[in-house]
Amino acid sequence: MPRDVTDVVVVGGGLVGAACAFELAGRGLAVTVVDRHDAGRATDAGAGILSPETMGGLPEPFLDLADLAGAHHRALGPELADLGAPDPAYAPCGALRVAVCEGDDEIYAVNVAASTARHPGMLEPLDPDAARAAFPPLGPVRAAVWNPQGARVDGRALTAALVHGARARGTEWRTGDVTGVRTAGDRVLGVDTVAGPLAAGTVVVAGGAWTPRVAAALGLRAGVRPVRGQIVHLALPSDTAGWPVLQPILSHYVVAWPGGRVALGATVEDAGFDARVTAGGLAGLLAEGVRVSPGLAGATVLETRVGLRPVSDDDQPIIGPVPEADGVVVATGHGANGLLLGPVTGRLVADLVTASPPPLDLTPFAPARLGPT
Ligand SMILES: Cc1cc2nc3c(=O)[nH]c(=O)nc-3n(C[C@H](O)[C@H](O)[C@H](O)COP(=O)(O)OP(=O)(O)OC[C@H]3O[C@@H](n4cnc5c(N)ncnc54)[C@H](O)[C@@H]3O)c2cc1C
Repeated sequence: MPRDVTDVVVVGGGLVGAACAFELAGRGLAVTVVDRHDAGRATDAGAGILSPETMGGLPEPFLDLADLAGAHHRALGPELADLGAPDPAYAPCGALRVAVCEGDDEIYAVNVAASTARHPGMLEPLDPDAARAAFPPLGPVRAAVWNPQGARVDGRALTAALVHGARARGTEWRTGDVTGVRTAGDRVLGVDTVAGPLAAGTVVVAGGAWTPRVAAALGLRAGVRPVRGQIVHLALPSDTAGWPVLQPILSHYVVAWPGGRVALGATVEDAGFDARVTAGGLAGLLAEGVRVSPGLAGATVLETRVGLRPVSDDDQPIIGPVPEADGVVVATGHGANGLLLGPVTGRLVADLVTASPPPLDLTPFAPARLGPT
């Protein structure tokens, strides 16, 4: 029998919702996830780059969160394995930051200097031949640094592992649509779903780009919009398992997977909720990818994935309680970094819900910063 009362309802079951459920259930709470699994779910398209050490130049609170997220990923695998979860396909493959043309030089220098200042001794300069040896399809390179702590993770596999872990801890997972939020005064009472009401003391809204529709049910504005990303998957007749993530400073990245699969992405487009693959998107990806890495020219095109990134008004994640609705916590706005930040967001949300001190100051990520809702 499905529950009609639960401690926490999580709205949305992408990576962020799955991580919230996993962590909340780990604190002994009864958790129910309701997920519509919309076409264009960002998690299903994510490339999988985890490289906080090459993000220098972004705001300090974001970088603190990113570093915490990197450490969280490194600890998460064994925790999931202990619960019998499927392999999240996490691999510490390293990341290669490169400049490939004169126009890259200035921003590359700024990025590497800022990254090095935050992580002294972490990034290792590589000469062009060493960079091409690490990532064989690469063309001419002007400068390169190696991040030994860079990693990759498969967003779909990681989410499946977290869903398994959350279920193992008692979470109920429903495919469904949350159509409204129930309140009495300023206190939340639960949600309405197409299958009926579900009472809860806490509602965690992790609806990705669709979060504004849930917020509207509370008469609020979420400050999040969809930003479309198209990413093409290619096949090469090479042993790609050991290749690092390639991060050209001003062009498309490449994430290599075992078995010759490489993902080349991604477009950044304001296209609303239109989750189509477009001719222009695909043409741009392939042209840029082959310009930087001519060795990709002969690859087989396998598929193109499309995701709608949840991007906030100030490009920073939104993690925290909603002042206007007691018992509602928002976890979204992770933009292009949700595969990195999603798992640790689950931990932070669990801290907030259980009134435990979080490991860093969450004020910069509070929903209230985005102004009157
Ligand atoms: C092309 C691309 C490449 C990317 N590459 C990287 C990368 O390399 N590294 C990185 O860190 N990040 C990357 N990202 C970003 C990352 O994928 C996203 O930030 C992250 O997946 C967002 O997860 P989410 O759970 O917030 O949203 P989503 O995955 O979009 O999930 C939201 C879920 O909520 C559900 N939902 C919404 N409203 C309701 C409702 N009312 N009722 C029920 N369900 C609802 C939706 O159906 C959906 O299933 C990339 C994204 C894209 C598109």
